[in-house]
Amino acid sequence: MKKCIVFVLLFVLYVLALPSYLPPVENSYVTATFLEFRSTGSVPHFHSGTDFSTFLKEGISVKAAENGYLVRLEIDEDSIYGMTVVLQHDDGYRTLYAHLSKFAEKTDKIVEMLTTEFGKQRIVVEFQSDDIRFSKGENIGYSGKTGEASQAHAHFEVRDEEEKNIYDPLDFVDKSLLRPVQMGIMIKNIVIDGKEYQYQAGKVYQYSGDFPKIAVETYTELAKNLLGVKEIKMYFSDDLVYHIILDKLPMECWEKPYDLYDEKTMMTSLIYRGYYKLYTLDDLPYVKVNKLNSLSNYDSGQYLVTIEIKDALGNVGMFSLKLVRR
Ligand SMILES: [Zn+2]
Repeated sequence: MKKCIVFVLLFVLYVLALPSYLPPVENSYVTATFLEFRSTGSVPHFHSGTDFSTFLKEGISVKAAENGYLVRLEIDEDSIYGMTVVLQHDDGYRTLYAHLSKFAEKTDKIVEMLTTEFGKQRIVVEFQSDDIRFSKGENIGYSGKTGEASQAHAHFEVRDEEEKNIYDPLDFVDKSLLRPVQMGIMIKNIVIDGKEYQYQAGKVYQYSGDFPKIAVETYTELAKNLLGVKEIKMYFSDDLVYHIILDKLPMECWEKPYDLYDEKTMMTSLIYRGYYKLYTLDDLPYVKVNKLNSLSNYDSGQYLVTIEIKDALGNVGMFSLKLVRR
């Protein structure tokens, strides 16, 4: 009997822990991931949310991910986010929907009143009460390309209540509701001690110095889009020496993308090439394991390297190479 209760309890906890937010666009797929590099705007920065396709169309309904109430409207066509809605949810998190072309009808009167009063300028409205409620799946606005968006899409973020930390939205969204798309993780090039090489499985590469300074150009290819990855583990033989998980970022790190990305990283309207550094010695919130400093203790100068890469959609790639000290 007791065993049964424990089992039921574990099952309930398991179900409660499953990501349950609705994707903000119906039958959509991901076109950009959390913490990709961005060189747009005034400073290089991290992409702080997940982009969902609106099939390049404006006017597609954007939906509340969970029951919640309106805490902020940003009426603004020119800055990074454009027209933006922020909701507060009972679980303590906030969701943010950006680049909208138009807000939901239930906020029409407020928006009209404010734009009549203040004209065409940036207006940020903070709501102190929980009067304007949205239920899960309800329309919060319509897709567009206001702000820093070259094409219409829905930019979606998850933040804590104080908006001090941002989280990977794909840890919250029920991914079974996304449109199934063919995907695969690739390493294209590797950089060792600043020099770039094409990656070839099992090949021997040379390095110099106390430990190898490797950066990998990796991505998930999804419907011809190249997306940033979520997790990288680097093993020397069976030893996990470096481990990155991009699940959360303090807002204060938003303008520090070069802590993670090598300077070869590139982003234009047509090209996305993210080179992830696997050698930073700084204390960074997303670097969970870093044993590079202690390598010389048992260092023979030769390593069999395995790099395991995961994306936020559940794909895994395994890559291997050999390193020999010059
Ligand atoms: Zn975005």
